[in-house]
Amino acid sequence: MSEPPLASNTPSQRDRPPSVDRLARSLASSGLPHPVLVEVARSAIAANRADHAADMAEQRARRLLTPVINATGVLLHTNLGRAPFGHESTASYTNLELSLASGKRGSRWNLVGELAATACGADAAIVVNNCAGAVLLSLAALAAGEGVAVSRGDLVEIGGGFRIPDVMRQSGAQLVEVGTTNRTRLSDFQQVQDDIALVMDVHRSNYRIEGFTESVSVDQLATVDVPLIADIGSGLLDATCPWLEGPPPPWLRDEPAARQTLEAGADLVLFSGDKLLGGPQAGIIAGRADLVERCRTHPLARALRPGSLVTGALQALLLTYLERRGNDIPFWRMATTPVEQLEERARGLASETGWEWVQTEATPGGGTLPGVTIPSCGVATDANVIAPLRARMRPIIGRVEEGRTIIDLRTVDPADDETLAEALAESSR
Ligand SMILES: *Cc1c(COP(=O)(O)O)cnc(C)c1O
Repeated sequence: MSEPPLASNTPSQRDRPPSVDRLARSLASSGLPHPVLVEVARSAIAANRADHAADMAEQRARRLLTPVINATGVLLHTNLGRAPFGHESTASYTNLELSLASGKRGSRWNLVGELAATACGADAAIVVNNCAGAVLLSLAALAAGEGVAVSRGDLVEIGGGFRIPDVMRQSGAQLVEVGTTNRTRLSDFQQVQDDIALVMDVHRSNYRIEGFTESVSVDQLATVDVPLIADIGSGLLDATCPWLEGPPPPWLRDEPAARQTLEAGADLVLFSGDKLLGGPQAGIIAGRADLVERCRTHPLARALRPGSLVTGALQALLLTYLERRGNDIPFWRMATTPVEQLEERARGLASETGWEWVQTEATPGGGTLPGVTIPSCGVATDANVIAPLRARMRPIIGRVEEGRTIIDLRTVDPADDETLAEALAESSR
């Protein structure tokens, strides 16, 4: 008889103690697939905690991606996937890379890129996986081996380890720091003009510099004799918000918008899909057609391109913008709900649950608009019940302030109010 192979990817019944398999089967009600339960059973036995295997299976199940109710009042919560956005997608083939006109191979880049360009008034645009990818790709395509001038006040770290100097290094471009942390002038850029291929302006998304400060506006930077890239990050398409019925909300006041940044003279703008744009995770590069084309044809573009899921979702979103149906974009609907409506819901919820209705302050979040608050309403109770609310089948994520649990309704879809009422009533029993 021949020996069984020494290394096998699927452990056979032989090298698994029978009790592992039996224990795994006993955990089937957790809903996890058997191979995952085998891992759980193994670690339970290895830790001598077979009696805790059911708890461990439940904990494992809780690590799966699951819809939650965001009651934090933070509209773009980094831990909760930033913008809420759903998109219908069937298991269908698409014309992702087919030209329906010619029947020949088409380019996925044109599909949603053209809509993005129209939406922000650019000549051309392409979409990559996120804004970090947009920064990396545009620096690699336009300035590898050359200098890129950035104000010292703009050398930012966005959450999650995205640091401009590090991304710059990875792109092969050389950072040319100009000015100082608090004050940078146009002349600082002009002095290095002959040593650089690009100027990059980076929006201070998540911090402010106050006091004795000076910075150079986009229209001034555009006078420097090299292309200007503006990483605006947040993804506000147009400062006038033509997709909204009313005027732009006052809390957007100082936020740079793609259209106005291009009008002010930026050659390219870069922004995220899942911040103020309110869509799926994506990064958009929009602006001068020749520069966009250099990004599109750079070898890294292939590694950063989205597939049909993101392309389809972003297309649906951009069409909604272009049809000026802002209320059909969950982020904008939540962000602009009149506070009176939230108060009415909060009062209703309070009478159903025994919680108290309260005025609150919501925030845009997502590393955008630091210090900005949006008037909101919700309900509160005098105990910290954050953990039991989070432990529910449909987790509810609230916040605690001075020992009180606060449920902010600005970020809750009214369709979830009933689920919320039930949970809150139970938690205070
Ligand atoms: C958020 C942000 C990024 C990173 O965007 P991702 O889409 O998360 O990769 C880059 N630059 C600025 C200025 C940002 O605000």
